[in-house]
Amino acid sequence: MRRLLIALSQNPTVKDVAVGFPPARRVVDRFVPGESIEDAVGAVRQLAASGIRATIDHLGEYADDRTKVETQVDTYLALLERLGEEHLTDAAEVSIKASALGQGIDDDLALTNARRIASAAREVGTTMTIDAEDHTRTDATLALLAAVRQEYPDTGGVLQAMLHRTPDDCRALATAGSRIRLCKGAYDEPPSVAHRSPTAISDAFLTCLRILLKGDGYPMIATHDPRLIAAAQAYLDLLDRPKGTYEFQMLYGIRPDEQRRLAASGHTVRVYVPFGDDWYAYFMRRLAEKPANLALLGRALLSRT
Ligand SMILES: Cc1cc2nc3c(=O)[nH]c(=O)nc-3n(C[C@H](O)[C@H](O)[C@H](O)COP(=O)(O)OP(=O)(O)OC[C@H]3O[C@@H](n4cnc5c(N)ncnc54)[C@H](O)[C@@H]3O)c2cc1C
Repeated sequence: MRRLLIALSQNPTVKDVAVGFPPARRVVDRFVPGESIEDAVGAVRQLAASGIRATIDHLGEYADDRTKVETQVDTYLALLERLGEEHLTDAAEVSIKASALGQGIDDDLALTNARRIASAAREVGTTMTIDAEDHTRTDATLALLAAVRQEYPDTGGVLQAMLHRTPDDCRALATAGSRIRLCKGAYDEPPSVAHRSPTAISDAFLTCLRILLKGDGYPMIATHDPRLIAAAQAYLDLLDRPKGTYEFQMLYGIRPDEQRRLAASGHTVRVYVPFGDDWYAYFMRRLAEKPANLALLGRALLSRT
């Protein structure tokens, strides 16, 4: 089921049907606070009231023309300006996808655009993180991260524990000042490059987590998995790692009680807040992670009749 849903996330015909289907939108609302910058800013304010920070993603990926890329960049610039005006830059940064900024059309275009956004983020007093996409883009995305960091060293990167290469990437990136988000990985990857069973992926997450926590960087522990969160807490205690030298991250709408519990215990917690109308692929990956979410969709359909 997981693989089918991830495959459907890249199917344009199913996308057209789903996007034009009002009951789907109601379920999407649980994971995406809205389409506008104001919707994202509203979500940041609500999280901030519970002591939780945000990283905001303008939905959209795999842009195949320069107009779409420019729209993405303009939206991020407007968002950052708005966060500055609202004095929310302590509470929120932005997350970007290289494929939305022109990677795939022209790597130099993606670099120029990533620098424009990193510069705007710095100007208002916040940071940017570059998301991880499917494994065919990992080399290019890490090269982009390295290039952006020459001028903006606080730019965050993302590593996916499911990939066989990731322990080596963790070692290379666990350096002073290096902000690295560790997640399991949301894409359906072949066995030649990735662990596929849930147990192997969790074990790999723990291996990578240990490397990052023992290193000098700033690990961003991105999981909702109770076992991994408990293991991370135990390991943080063992290493006597001070609060503020790492953070927990979760997705908007998923385990909000746990987000508040961790924040109330003094951990830095950051929630990934996606916004925009191009929600389809993001939403399908969330369904794939928890096929029980399909029941929400089913209930929305029934309540329509
Ligand atoms: C802040 C953040 C940023 C991320 N950035 C990236 C990225 O750049 N690239 C990338 O490939 N992946 C990214 N991911 C996604 C990640 O790779 C996983 O696909 C996702 O987090 C699910 O894995 P999990 O560790 O939560 O464990 P899981 O085993 O999937 O989930 C553990 C438990 O969490 C809850 N849960 C998890 N997902 C859902 C859901 N969709 N709906 C309802 N409950 C759920 C359930 O209770 C589940 O039992 C990110 C995740 C987070 C939290």
